Amino acid sequence: MEHYPFMNTPLAYAYDALEPYIDAQTMVLHHDRHLQTYVDNLNAALQPYPWLQTLSLQQLLRASTHLPMTIATPVARNAGGVYNHRLYFDGLTPESAPLPDGALSSAIVRRFGSISQFREQLTQAAAGVFGSGYAWLCADRRGTLSIVTTANQETPQGLCLCPILNLDVWEHAYYLKHFNKRADYLTDWFHVVNWPAAEARYLQCKEQSADSYFENHENF
Ligand code: MN
Repeated sequence: MEHYPFMNTPLAYAYDALEPYIDAQTMVLHHDRHLQTYVDNLNAALQPYPWLQTLSLQQLLRASTHLPMTIATPVARNAGGVYNHRLYFDGLTPESAPLPDGALSSAIVRRFGSISQFREQLTQAAAGVFGSGYAWLCADRRGTLSIVTTANQETPQGLCLCPILNLDVWEHAYYLKHFNKRADYLTDWFHVVNWPAAEARYLQCKEQSADSYFENHENF
């Protein structure tokens, strides 16, 4: 199980692989600088606390509200930054294809009416995040989907049982290419979504809810 000192895991694809939708320079800065900074700051926050150094990222996120104030905020922010960015980068692929028929697509149609209505609602939610944050597609323990948003590097812990996909709408995710046009970035993001990864997370969420959810380290 991964614990302190955390490492910045490499991307599963090349920095320029998401061109022309997400540019290489954005990916380099986003992964190697922004995410790296969260990794470094998380390690620095944990360094004086040996009893926290055996906890996984998910355990730290669950524990953060119970920690002393001096450590609670840096752990929550930086563990959140690592968790949120890993999910974001894992949710992207250069080989994106339309959402395949399967459990996730059925659940989307059940919840939102159609794939295009889902797309519209997720876009609206992401466009409506004021300042920095994320839009999320989440599943509850019955597999019912919802869209939620979070501010800054907050995780959807407490709002959401299983995060299926997230959409980073911090300006650093799009400003170099899309400037201030978040809506253009959202349109481009849909071209590089890793639907098979989302489907796998959805199935895993349903399996673990039948089993023992809180023992699982993949989600919260
Ligand atoms: Mn980001």
